[in-house]
Amino acid sequence: MAYVVTQNCCNDATCVAVCPVDCIHPTPAEREYTRTEMLYIDPGTCIDCGACSDVCPVDAIVPGDAPAPDIDRYREINAEYFQRNPRSAPPGAHVQPLPLTLATTGVTDPPALRVAIVGSGPSAFYAAEELLARRDIAAEVTMFERLPVAGGLVRFGVAPDHWHTKTVDRVFNRTARRDGFTFHLGVEVGRDVTLDEVLAHHHAVIHASGASGDRRLGIPGEDLPGSYAAREFVAWYNGHPDHAERTFDLSARRAVVVGNGNVALDVARILVSDVKTLRRTDIADHALAVLADSRVEEVVVLGRRGPEHAACTTPELLALGSLPGIDVLVDGPVTAGPDAPAKLRILAEYARREATPGNKRIVLRFGTSPREVLGAGRAESLLVAHGDTVDRIECGLILRAVGYRGLPIDGLPFDEAAGTVANAGGRVALPDTGETVRGHYVAGWIKRGATGVIGTNRYCAAETVEALLADHRAGLLAAPTAAAADLAALVRERRPDALGGADWRAIDRFERERGREEGRPRIKIVDARQAAVVAGAAAR
Ligand SMILES: Cc1cc2nc3c(=O)[nH]c(=O)nc-3n(C[C@H](O)[C@H](O)[C@H](O)COP(=O)(O)OP(=O)(O)OC[C@H]3O[C@@H](n4cnc5c(N)ncnc54)[C@H](O)[C@@H]3O)c2cc1C
Ligand code: SF4
Ligand code: SF4
Repeated sequence: MAYVVTQNCCNDATCVAVCPVDCIHPTPAEREYTRTEMLYIDPGTCIDCGACSDVCPVDAIVPGDAPAPDIDRYREINAEYFQRNPRSAPPGAHVQPLPLTLATTGVTDPPALRVAIVGSGPSAFYAAEELLARRDIAAEVTMFERLPVAGGLVRFGVAPDHWHTKTVDRVFNRTARRDGFTFHLGVEVGRDVTLDEVLAHHHAVIHASGASGDRRLGIPGEDLPGSYAAREFVAWYNGHPDHAERTFDLSARRAVVVGNGNVALDVARILVSDVKTLRRTDIADHALAVLADSRVEEVVVLGRRGPEHAACTTPELLALGSLPGIDVLVDGPVTAGPDAPAKLRILAEYARREATPGNKRIVLRFGTSPREVLGAGRAESLLVAHGDTVDRIECGLILRAVGYRGLPIDGLPFDEAAGTVANAGGRVALPDTGETVRGHYVAGWIKRGATGVIGTNRYCAAETVEALLADHRAGLLAAPTAAAADLAALVRERRPDALGGADWRAIDRFERERGREEGRPRIKIVDARQAAVVAGAAAR
């Protein structure tokens, strides 16, 4: 039976390149790729060779008759994509060179192109891979990460119960082992070393620093204690060192999540998940302890627009509906005919469900906008508007899941509206004149804004590297004025506690081994000092 793509797909399109009959779409060369929720396999063309399944970094591809969750629905979802997007061209005609260009012509003369990358999330690693895997140029990459461990939002954003998705870090690990790769963990560019110092040692800097701020609701009371950005809650349960010390009051029966994208569903799910289930994940121990005493029974998830505009993806919505002990309900009717998009049909199905006595609940409410957070000294309720009616939802916790937002980088032009460093195809550029800022490039969420899944960053980073290499070939990059060894000395002087690639691998091994003892994928170290101790012990 034809293979199918399932929930974990992160759109990195690794499978596209290996399919002998070109039946996985949309490919990065197709227009729909930038908008797609996932990739799909055409059941009419697939020859069951299994090649795609072997290379998928997150185990998202399975045979269509595998005993996987919701497999029947995924067969439908995969097939539906091709009904809605019939392919006019014969198999093979869509295969175009991906933007990933591992050229095979002769290696250029030394010295190597030296590139610094700020950040260690997906866009940083995809950019590093693009540079180091090339055979037409000798490149060296220095990666700086402000935290003692790598991975960005793969470690500190992706929900702990999405363990398969997190395994994409294997791909990053491979890149970090390549010749020419140097890692400085626990080193913040702009604080520990200046941008000028970094650029002096390299031909160029790629900023891949992500989006560590939040979009705001702009309503009265949103900063009352008890009302937080979902980002803070996510970082806390994922063991982000900056958020480990805080806690969340989960003593009220109801929580409200504003926004209905995938992050909203993540936090809603974590709030009502059975602690026994969470105990099998890599959720931070401090969060597990608080969630074990949680009294939250109901999470209301608010969407400003109607169900047809729900911002979450179909696979995430589908998976939500089959969590044990949790009812997923829709407040109000949803109509969807047999030809309606899968997401709307799933919502219509949830709208028909009845509450099960004793179960916890996630209630999706559409067409509802928050107006004001009310409470004496802390959030006690949320005033919302639904058409002409104004309603009050009593709750003890409000999580605002309306988007992450990039923060400005000193010395670089910033687009306030988009929350991105101003750029043209990855080249940092002044918004008024389009003039580029020599030596500076961006990739990932700080380039595009906080949208797109892990794999989206692969093609985003490839575009940036293409621009950088074109500028290098055109002689537009200044040669480094200081030696690589001097940079290592500078880092040691400023951050004697900085860690390297071998330290990261030692911490990774330690966390996994501890996890294995307790039947968990890993037990995270959240304290930088403990990370240093583990790395130090491994080095001896
Ligand atoms: C809650 C959440 C859940 C998600 N779940 C999924 C999922 O299940 N599947 C999926 O495919 N995608 C998921 N995504 C999307 C995915 O995580 C992003 O597409 C991706 O992480 C963006 O990559 P990035 O490299 O641009 O930024 P990030 O991953 O944020 O990486 C940026 C890195 O830069 C570092 N940094 C910042 N400033 C500096 C500095 N000055 N010096 C040194 N280092 C610095 C940061 O510490 C961070 O490690 C999720 C996103 C969120 C927010
Ligand atoms: S994660 Fe990548 S390799 Fe796996 S199915 Fe999705 S696009 Fe294909
Ligand atoms: S099983 Fe083979 S033919 Fe089918 S989608 Fe995967 S690679 Fe293509």
